Amino acid sequence: MAKLITLFKLLPKKHQLLLSLLTLAIFVIIFIPTDNAVASKQTPESGVAVRYDVPLAFRTPDAPSAQNVADSGEPQESEKAAEAITDSIVEQTSDALETQVDKQADGMAELEHFEVKRGDTLAALFQRASLSAREVYDITQLPLAKKHLIKIMPGEEITIGKSADGGLKLLQYRIDAISTLIINHDNKGYREEVQTKDVENRQQFVSAEIHSNFWNAGVDAGLNPAQIMQLATIFGWDVDFALDIRNGDSFSLIYEQEFADGEFLRNGNILAAEFINQGERYTAVRYTDGNYYSADGRSMRKAFLRSPVDFKYVSSNFNPRRLHPVTGLVRPHRGVDYVAAIGTPIKSAGAGKVIKASYNQYNGNYVFIRHNATYTTKYLHLNKRKVKEGEYVKQGQIIGTLGKTGRVTGAHLHYEFIVNGVHRNPRTVDLPKAEPIAKQERSAFDALSKSLMAALNHQKQVRIAMQK
Ligand SMILES: [Zn+2]
Repeated sequence: MAKLITLFKLLPKKHQLLLSLLTLAIFVIIFIPTDNAVASKQTPESGVAVRYDVPLAFRTPDAPSAQNVADSGEPQESEKAAEAITDSIVEQTSDALETQVDKQADGMAELEHFEVKRGDTLAALFQRASLSAREVYDITQLPLAKKHLIKIMPGEEITIGKSADGGLKLLQYRIDAISTLIINHDNKGYREEVQTKDVENRQQFVSAEIHSNFWNAGVDAGLNPAQIMQLATIFGWDVDFALDIRNGDSFSLIYEQEFADGEFLRNGNILAAEFINQGERYTAVRYTDGNYYSADGRSMRKAFLRSPVDFKYVSSNFNPRRLHPVTGLVRPHRGVDYVAAIGTPIKSAGAGKVIKASYNQYNGNYVFIRHNATYTTKYLHLNKRKVKEGEYVKQGQIIGTLGKTGRVTGAHLHYEFIVNGVHRNPRTVDLPKAEPIAKQERSAFDALSKSLMAALNHQKQVRIAMQK
C-alpha cells in the first residue's frame, strides 16, 4: 500500500487527478445503494436512530405556522430529501468537470492546481506555476490578493489558468469554505474580487430511542460528541444523565446545519428538543437570547444540576438497584453513589459557599456546600479537593475529583442533597421553580415555541408512519 502511494505521488498532477476520479467513480458504483436499499435504510426494524432531512417547508427562517407544518410532509418526503442529497453530490462532480471544459473552450489552457507545500513561499509557488516576474509583481500589487495570498497555508491550493501563449488569465484561491479570491487578467488589465457563497441554514431532525445508553443512541442517530453533550446540558437540570436513563427513553431534536452551495459547512444550534425519561416528557426551545426554555416558557436553567458528575464518565447505566460499594448490599442510603474512574471531575450542583473542605477516615476527602438557608450538598470520598473552606463556588464549578478515600471499597462519589436538614433524593426532589421568560418576550416566544414543537411532533409522526 505504502509503495502504491509513493508511486501515486510520483505521477504528474493530471494523472493523479484522473486516477482519483476513477477510484471515486468505482467507489460510488460499489457503495451507493440502489433505491430499494435506501428505502430499507429509512425504515429500520429496530426503530432506533433514524435521521433525515426536514422537508423544505421547515427551512424557512420565519417559523412556519402549525397548520403549514401539518400540511407539508408526507412520509416519502424524507426519502426524497435523501435522494436530493445524492443527486446534489453527483451534480457537483459534473459541474466541476463542466467548468474545466468551458475554460478550455474559452481559449484557455487547462486549469492547473498548485498545492502550497510546507515551507513554501508565494514566490516559490508562482515560480512552479511558471508565472513571469512581471505577473508576480502585478498580482502582489492588487489589494485583495495582497491581503489574502499572504496568508496561504500548507495544503491549500492556488488554481491558475493561462492563455494559449502562456500568459496568466485566471488565478483562484479558496480563502475558506464560503469565500474564493478570483483574479482575472486580460488585455484590459487585472480584475480581482472575492466571491462569497450564500450560507443557507437548514433544519435537521433527529430522533432516537435509547437501548444501551444515551451516548450510543446519540452516536447512532448521527449526532457528534459536542451535540450529545449539548443535549445533556440542556436537560441536565431536569434529568440525571448519569443514573436516570432507562431502556426505552427517547429523544427528538431539530438542529441547524449551515450549507454553502449545497456543501455542508457546520452544525449549528439545537433549536428544539424533547426528552422522554421514564415516562416524563421534557421539552426545550432555544430563544433568540440564546437560552433554552421549556415549551411553555420556563427557563431550563435551575438552581441545581440533577447530577454533579457528567454522564459520560459514569460507566454503568440502567442499574436502578445499585449495590452499595461498601457492603455490597442494596439498602436505603442517604445519598447517591456515582461509580466512575478516579480523577473524574466533580461539579458543584449549584452556586454557594464551601462550608467544609476537609479529610476524615470515613468520608475521606470531602466538600460540603451551603447554597442558601434551605439547601446544602455534600461530596464524599474525593481523590482531590479543588476548593477551600469559605470559598464561593459557581454552579458547575469543579470542586474536586472522584476518588476512593475514606471508608470505601471502590472508587465512587457519594453525593448528598439536604433540604432543611433532611436528606432528600437529589434525582427526584422538587427543586425551586425556574424563572419564566420575560413578559415582553412572551408572545414572540410562544409563537416560536409553538411552531418548533409542531415541527418536532410532525417529524416524529412521519418517523412512526415510516416504521409501520
Ligand atoms: Zn454512598
